[in-house]
Amino acid sequence: MYPCPHCKRETISTWKKLSAGKALPAKCSNCGQKSYIGFKNQFIAQVLLGFLSFIFILPVIDYDQLWAITGIVLLALLLGKIFLLDRPMEKF
Ligand SMILES: [Zn+2]
Repeated sequence: MYPCPHCKRETISTWKKLSAGKALPAKCSNCGQKSYIGFKNQFIAQVLLGFLSFIFILPVIDYDQLWAITGIVLLALLLGKIFLLDRPMEKF
């Protein structure tokens, strides 16, 4: 669980935090206030994933190395952890 930026109680689940954007903010079950992950962090994570995926996409396309798809999944998990889960949420 992750802390709500309003009341500081750990009420935000991992899935709620990952899916909390400005259009669909996470609602705290303690204080009822809304919060979301800032656009900047979402943007950085998506751009990095887009660029770094090419490291793994090329072996898949050119040499039929399907193991490289695992690399894209691990990369997405790592970037999600660094830029989404480890960053504090913003108050709505
Ligand atoms: Zn709260």
